[in-house]
Amino acid sequence: MAGVLYVISGPSGVGKTSIIEGVMKRVKNLVFSVSCTTRPKRPNEVEGRDYFFVDEETFMRMMKEDEFLEWAIVHGYYYGTPRRFVEEQLRSNVNVILDIDVQGATTVMKKVKDAVFIFVAPPSFDELKKRLLKRGTERQEDMIKRLEDAKKELEQIPKFQYLIVNVDLQESIDQLTSIIVAEQLKVNRVIERLGFHKIFSDGGDSK
Ligand code: 5GP
Repeated sequence: MAGVLYVISGPSGVGKTSIIEGVMKRVKNLVFSVSCTTRPKRPNEVEGRDYFFVDEETFMRMMKEDEFLEWAIVHGYYYGTPRRFVEEQLRSNVNVILDIDVQGATTVMKKVKDAVFIFVAPPSFDELKKRLLKRGTERQEDMIKRLEDAKKELEQIPKFQYLIVNVDLQESIDQLTSIIVAEQLKVNRVIERLGFHKIFSDGGDSK
């Protein structure tokens, strides 16, 4: 598969969505994989843009029918990456970005050779708490769960290839863009994309 899979993980509230949105505006040939979830829709969310919101029965059926590249229970709800969409894009040389939790990223590490794993961390735990409070999308008990889960996620950082500490949104967008551009220029990827002959042939007219 010639497309590259970029997996972005990091605690809830760290700013992954904003970073990804910024990068999507700047990087060509990159699509976002919309996940399925059983979590209730937030008022500002749009079906099919942010998530495919499904009930548990539908999610279970999709799981049984092997429709997910990976799935996990995150903060008490099911989340899964639709497998067919990702595979089709990669096969068509389109790069794909996933925003998934660390459990999901660990599954993808085992399944997709050559994927790129990037962790987004907060500058500090206190800052993460502040950002979650400011966002105000979670009920008190859900927020406590998200903060507890964040501690466990931060312990998994060494599994990843890149680490972005999100101090400043614009800087983080620049950093993720740089990672993607550099990965696209790796020799093996360029050769796979363009073919060895296209790069090294002399056009047949050298004397
Ligand atoms: P939220 O409910 O705030 O949108 O997302 C909660 C967490 O679920 C985030 O850390 C997000 O990265 C993760 N997540 C979103 N979609 C998926 C998915 O398809 N699979 C997994 N494993 N995690 C996901």
